Amino acid sequence: MTRPDALPLGATIGILGGGQLGRMSAMAAARLGYRCHIFAPEAECPARQVAAAGTIAAYDDVAALHRFAAAVDVVTYEFENVPAATLAALEGRVPCRPGPRALAICQDRLAEKRFLAEAGVPVGPWRAVHSAEELTSALAEIGLPAVLKTTRLGYDGRGQAVLHRPEDALPAYERLSPKPLILEAFIPFTAEISAIAARGLDGAVACYDAVENQHRHHILDLSFAPARLPEAAARAARENVARVAQALELVGLVALEMFLLPDGGLLGNEIAPRPHNSGHWTMDACACGQFEQHIRAVAGLPLGPVTRHSDAVMRNLVGPEGLAAWPRLVSRGDVVAHWYGKDEAKPGRKLGHANRLLPLGRLQGLDDVTACDGI
Ligand code: AMP
Repeated sequence: MTRPDALPLGATIGILGGGQLGRMSAMAAARLGYRCHIFAPEAECPARQVAAAGTIAAYDDVAALHRFAAAVDVVTYEFENVPAATLAALEGRVPCRPGPRALAICQDRLAEKRFLAEAGVPVGPWRAVHSAEELTSALAEIGLPAVLKTTRLGYDGRGQAVLHRPEDALPAYERLSPKPLILEAFIPFTAEISAIAARGLDGAVACYDAVENQHRHHILDLSFAPARLPEAAARAARENVARVAQALELVGLVALEMFLLPDGGLLGNEIAPRPHNSGHWTMDACACGQFEQHIRAVAGLPLGPVTRHSDAVMRNLVGPEGLAAWPRLVSRGDVVAHWYGKDEAKPGRKLGHANRLLPLGRLQGLDDVTACDGI
């Protein structure tokens, strides 16, 4: 049975943001009988192409936000840098899921690090850096190499610098903005792992299998699902993200990026309170993919099964190379291909992704080249 406060069929879900995550959420919502209303400043965007309604307005247009709140039954968002003032304009008028607390924590790397440690997820050494003097003392404590990052508005490797020598510090401090910054110890990880958990309106939590991610030019290139990890580490990765979902008390999805250490331990790096690029494999390898799960949570439906019925390798289709690969990938029988409907194939732009499906259990033991098999 669905909860009495679950959204009825035909209800409208408002989505802040018009990118591919909004598009795939709207497609999943349509399948469950909901309409989506996209609020974004861009007239042309991937999500609008598949949604029932839309508002074209800036995120600080309070009058437009009030009209949007009146036109929808619940609000969610597809990016975490939604200005706090935007949510403040919506709060009290319409349920916002996840709520402002989850957003505030995930928008600020300092708050995020403190939160992770409090939630019981180990993190590497770090120091807040509010001034050049503080950077000097932080470096003395943390040592080199280290990574200096902006605390806000960084994504896909932007807003950070690896410090190898003491003389790297000051130029990096001056270049990076906005301040304050965070200095992190450089983690000699053997792999980057992520896991996604959903938390329903009833507090139920469900976790997808952890995956291993490889980046190219700081952009996610490949996800291997499941991560080829010892069972104890795979379990620890799921437990970590479940702790994060519980501690955030969010309704929706949360992704946790982690570093795998040479001794098999995991350190938490970043959290995102939304569907995540490293979860795109779930669309075709799980009974209920991450976008449907997100919609289920925000609509108050019971969470769907996260069970993996296939192994998968996800490749992002990025820029002109991604466009060139499309005809080949969309023709393969072992690949499910997804295109986001963006107008230009600019370098570095995510245009689509391809999920290569393999029989359950096949990925363990395969090397990367064999696992990808040309995708
Ligand atoms: P982030 O924006 O924090 O996700 O960082 C982007 C990428 O930089 C990560 O995916 C890692 O490959 C690398 N990175 C970030 N922080 C560290 C760190 N403390 N030590 C080593 N590599 C890092």
